[in-house]
Amino acid sequence: MAITHLDTVASAVDGTTQKNIRTEAYVLEKANDPFRLQVIVLDEVRGNELLIEMKYSGICHTDLIVQSGAIPALEFPAILGHEGAGYIRAIGSNVTRTDLTLGDFVLLSFNTCGACKQCKRGHPAYCLNGAKLHMGAVRPEDGSSHARLAKDGRSVRSQFFGQSTFSRMTIVQESTVAMKYPYDPEGAAMFAACGCEFQTEAGTVLNVLKPREDDSVVVFGLGGVGLTAVMAAKFLGVGRIIGVDISGERLRVATELGATEVVDSKGMPDVVKVIWGRTGGGGADFCIDCVGNTAIIESMIECLAKCGTAASVGVMPPGKTVSLDPQKHLFDNKRYIGVLEGDSNPIKFIPELVAMQRSGKFPLKKLCTTYPWQDMEQALTDMHAGKVIKPVLQWC
Ligand SMILES: [Zn+2]
Ligand SMILES: [Zn+2]
Repeated sequence: MAITHLDTVASAVDGTTQKNIRTEAYVLEKANDPFRLQVIVLDEVRGNELLIEMKYSGICHTDLIVQSGAIPALEFPAILGHEGAGYIRAIGSNVTRTDLTLGDFVLLSFNTCGACKQCKRGHPAYCLNGAKLHMGAVRPEDGSSHARLAKDGRSVRSQFFGQSTFSRMTIVQESTVAMKYPYDPEGAAMFAACGCEFQTEAGTVLNVLKPREDDSVVVFGLGGVGLTAVMAAKFLGVGRIIGVDISGERLRVATELGATEVVDSKGMPDVVKVIWGRTGGGGADFCIDCVGNTAIIESMIECLAKCGTAASVGVMPPGKTVSLDPQKHLFDNKRYIGVLEGDSNPIKFIPELVAMQRSGKFPLKKLCTTYPWQDMEQALTDMHAGKVIKPVLQWC
């Protein structure tokens, strides 16, 4: 079905249409279905919301985990996508940020309540209302704008992480705007992808672990998240950065981006022994699991040096457990922590990532591959095959 989205955009810009906006989005009908492009209708832009014409949408592993049905709280059909950048085309009547105007190009990230204890303490990634907020709006009674399928009027869960960026036009929460960005085709695609995945791993290293030059950092799993961790450790001048993966190509890229050593763990019977050997017998000061696999988590904990910290960043299925030796933890003062969204405050941290990239010391561009918006399936196929690290859809 032909979409007259440009007409819609034009009318939204001049304020004549802020209701019943027809657009198209990748809709997930149920778990394990493919993302299918469908015509949807957005209702009015309410309160603290903004209408965004998406330019770029990053695909994050969390979208794929939700697609697999591993997060039961999410109802279908749904529009996912929680990284992106685009133009503001309408502004809700209660938007409080006076710096936002029609036509601004903005980078988006996760939404927060801004009022809970964690938000007030500067840890919005741990917003106490995040679990509900991130699962988005379903029906009008939620008080937020929502979307419906044009063909049969069924409600579609939208505002996933406050955004639902897998949509040509989307209504987002005001709190999702991380920064205004003077659009340039060179930077916009990679910075669009900072909203979750890049921010998560860079933040884990820069905001939470904060390794020093004489520390060792071991990164397990060298996808977009793990490679960003390698880059962040290199940015800090960490002396020993060890990348662990089963893909020769990923190990090669990790070396290019700053890993001082790599370990091909494919078929390796005892990774822990190898890491202890590489760290001179003392163990690793910091380990990061970007995979979400319990065996890997147990291994990384075993790799820790005295006073070392192991961080889980990769999302694992619910209900999984790992075993650890609490006496070792006590005597060696070891820590095992989880880190969500890099404990980042996007309004503060995403501008920092942009500045780091521009300094030439944080080459995000090497991780991103842009696909035309019609090529979602190809992007996912390439992602699964390990051909690309970070696919980003371009809408126009
Ligand atoms: Zn909060
Ligand atoms: Zn994500």
